[in-house]
Amino acid sequence: MHHSTARSEELFREAQQVIPGGVNSPVRAFKAVGGTPRFIARAQGAYLWDADGNQLLDYIGSWGPMILGHNHPAVVAAIQQALAEGLSYGAPTEREIRLAQRVREAYPSADLVRFVSSGTEATMSALRLARGYTGRDLIVKFRGNYHGHADSLLVQAGSGLLTGGGGSARSAPSSAGVPQAFAELTLVADYNEPQALEDLFQRYGEQIAAVIFEPVVGNAGVLIPTPAFLEALHRLTRQYGALLIADEVMTGFRLAKGGAVELLGLQPDLICWGKILGGGLPVGAYGGRAEIMQQVAPLGPVYQAGTLSGNPLSMAAGLATLETLFQDPPYARLEAYGAALEQGLQTLFAEAGLPVAINRVGSMITVFFREGPVQTYTEAVASDTERFKAFFHGLLQRGVYWPPSQFEAAFFSLAHGPQELDKTLEAIAQALKEPA
Ligand code: PLP
Repeated sequence: MHHSTARSEELFREAQQVIPGGVNSPVRAFKAVGGTPRFIARAQGAYLWDADGNQLLDYIGSWGPMILGHNHPAVVAAIQQALAEGLSYGAPTEREIRLAQRVREAYPSADLVRFVSSGTEATMSALRLARGYTGRDLIVKFRGNYHGHADSLLVQAGSGLLTGGGGSARSAPSSAGVPQAFAELTLVADYNEPQALEDLFQRYGEQIAAVIFEPVVGNAGVLIPTPAFLEALHRLTRQYGALLIADEVMTGFRLAKGGAVELLGLQPDLICWGKILGGGLPVGAYGGRAEIMQQVAPLGPVYQAGTLSGNPLSMAAGLATLETLFQDPPYARLEAYGAALEQGLQTLFAEAGLPVAINRVGSMITVFFREGPVQTYTEAVASDTERFKAFFHGLLQRGVYWPPSQFEAAFFSLAHGPQELDKTLEAIAQALKEPA
């Protein structure tokens, strides 16, 4: 059961000599759970192989993109063909049109789509556009929603909001290096708390350019929006002339062909995408009604550009991924796997006498180590992270690679089948009997 991790340990030591913390994105360092992150050598289907040759059943899927499973032949072939033709020209190419058409097919409300190279760029650009379009400066985001690492989005609620009582809702930076002056332009509200949003709009409504939100939250662990919350989002943004921005970077093309927008019947003004849209290569995009998107350069005064935006390899990988998904829509299959996994988890935790709240939408799932329901960020962060740690390491030692934080979604793919389900539930059963 105990894998050798000698090579990962060696690589992690070496990595820390040349890369801050040894990683290029913080969650990879296993800081929340401790231990040595596995260095990955290769992947196929539902599995990763680490640098010591251990096979790991993957529930991260590169944090979302790998919905078809790793190394899907259609995606690999499309990249190889694009690769043979040339890497990047800084000039328009046909694949960009075809991918934009595919996005519009899935999201008919997006008349125009602009490609960028990451989810961060997508949300950052959508916010600039919303500010340019409305001529207003304030934006609203929700605690525990993550939209990438742009300055105005790395903010947390100020003390006024946290203590209720009508203090200032103006926010504080949640990262060093974010100027207070930027943070003050972002109001932070609580997810699934419509009255708080109502109060915020009453006070600041005329100055709010946009509300950005995760339509199903993945970044606090999975949180599912309540109908009352969604109703308030739509009504208040309309009433006050603010734009509603659905961040579908994680949920787009995953929860349905048209993402959470289709699944939940949302009517956002702007939509952001990433992850699956690039099929495993760097991509982001934002889109919406023509009247708004026409404000973007070169048509309008809102500037946004990118050397590698729309690059041929990312476009090819994204096209192959969306075409594969759309040919034979897999959402019922993903739902079936998810339902069986969820049921299995419920049974095993009930048998172990361990209270958990399992939140799942389609192929995104979180097991919160506390009694349910978990609907808000405050409820999520009250989870027992020590229990989560033991669960995580118990699974990892048994070859199941779950996200290394209580506050992340686990993802599965179309390469996860009955065998993978059995393997997962077996590992969980053992881990609950004999933790790490
Ligand atoms: N928006 C959401 C909902 C995300 O989950 C993420 C990344 O996890 C981002 C935006 C940022 O995307 P990227 O990491 O590609 O910059």
